[in-house]
Amino acid sequence: MLIKAGLFIDGSGAPPRNDRFIAVDNGKIVAVGGEDDFAAAQVEHAVDYSPYTVLPGLIDCHVHLFLEGIDDMEKRRCRLREGREIMLFRAARNLELTLRKGVTTVRDLGGPYGIATTLKRAVGEKKILGPRVLTCHRSISVPGGHFHYAGGREAAGPEEIAQAVREQIAAGADLVKLMVTGMVDFRAGETGIPELSRNDIQAAVAEAQRLGRPVSVHANGPCGVRDALAANVNTVEHGILVDNETVGILSQSQVHWVPTISPLWQILNYCRDHSAAAFPEEGVERVYNQHCAMISQGIAAGAEIIAGTDAGALGVDHGEVWRELALLVACGMSPLAAIQAATGRAARAIGVSNTTGTVAPGKHADLLVVCGNPLQNMSLLRNVIQVYKEGESILPVRRQYQEKRR
Ligand SMILES: [Zn+2]
Repeated sequence: MLIKAGLFIDGSGAPPRNDRFIAVDNGKIVAVGGEDDFAAAQVEHAVDYSPYTVLPGLIDCHVHLFLEGIDDMEKRRCRLREGREIMLFRAARNLELTLRKGVTTVRDLGGPYGIATTLKRAVGEKKILGPRVLTCHRSISVPGGHFHYAGGREAAGPEEIAQAVREQIAAGADLVKLMVTGMVDFRAGETGIPELSRNDIQAAVAEAQRLGRPVSVHANGPCGVRDALAANVNTVEHGILVDNETVGILSQSQVHWVPTISPLWQILNYCRDHSAAAFPEEGVERVYNQHCAMISQGIAAGAEIIAGTDAGALGVDHGEVWRELALLVACGMSPLAAIQAATGRAARAIGVSNTTGTVAPGKHADLLVVCGNPLQNMSLLRNVIQVYKEGESILPVRRQYQEKRR
C-alpha cells in the first residue's frame, strides 16, 4: 500500500512536509519519501490523501478504560459498584471509541478488576477493536489511599509494596502505578496527604526495575513529586501544585511529566455550572491557573512533557487527546512539540518507540489522517478522515458517538 500525504508530520519533531509518500507492507512502514523515490515501485493499492494531513496515530499516556467521562457524580458512584461483566462491556466500548478517534496506543493507569489487562489480551487476540493497551493491572496505594475504591491494590510498608509490584507483573502488567499522594483538596488549596513514603516508593521502583518494568506515579505537590523523582520513577502523573523549585528539578531530570490538564479543565467547567462542595469555583480556578503556570515554566525549562488525558475522569471522554494538546499549546508549548507529546516523545516515555510513535521505516503503520492542519489548530485533530492501526484501516467514529453521552 502506498499512502500519499498532502501534509506530513512524522512525530519526531521534524518540520512538516508537503506531498510525502508512505509505503506500507504487512502492517509495517517500509519506506517514506518523495514522489521520485517511488516512481519505480510496484504498488498494489494506492491511497491519495493529498487534501489531508497524515501523522502518527496518537498515544494517550494516561487513561482509565473502565469509566466514561460522565460528569454526573451520582452516576459515577454507581459505575464503581458495577459488576465485572458490565464494566468490561463498557470498557470495550470506550476502547473502540478511542481507536476510531485516532488514538492507536493507550496506557491504562488503573481500574477495578484489572480490567485493562483483559482488554489488552482481547485486543492482542483481535477479539475486540481497540488501540494497543499498556496496563498497570491494578494501581498500588496505602490502605484506604487514593483510588483504592477503584480496584486498587492496598499495601502497607516496603515489603508488602514490593509484593504488590510482583503480583501486578505476574498478572500481566506492563508497568507499575503507584499512588504517592492523595487527591488535590480544592477547598484548602492543598495537594493531598503524601501517602507512600520515600522508602515505599524506593522499594516499589527497585522491585519493578528488577523485573524490567517502568514505574508511573500519581504525585501532587512538592513533597510527593520530589520523593518520586528521588526514587527514580519513569513518569510523574499530574504534578499539580508543585512549586518553582520542584519544576526545576523535574525539568533537569530525565523523568517524563504527564500534567493531565484535561481533568482540571473539566472540573473548572463543571464547577461553573454545578454547585459541588468539593469543587468551589474560586479554589478550582486558583489550582488550575497555578498548574498552567508551572507547566509553562516546565516547557520553558525543557521538561519532558507528554500527553495524557486522564480519560474516565469527571467529564473527560476517551480519545480526546486533541484537547490536552490544545491546553499544552495554551501553556506555551509549540504546536509541533505538542504533536510530539502525543506521538514520538510519548512513545519514548512509555517504552514503545521501537514500534510506534513516529512514521518511519520499521515502525507499525499506525497513522491518523485528518482534514486541516492541526499545527494551526489542535481541534482539527477531531476531523478524522481515516485511522490505520498496524496498516489496518479503521473507520472514524460516527457523528453520533461524538455527541456527549450522558
Ligand atoms: Zn488517572
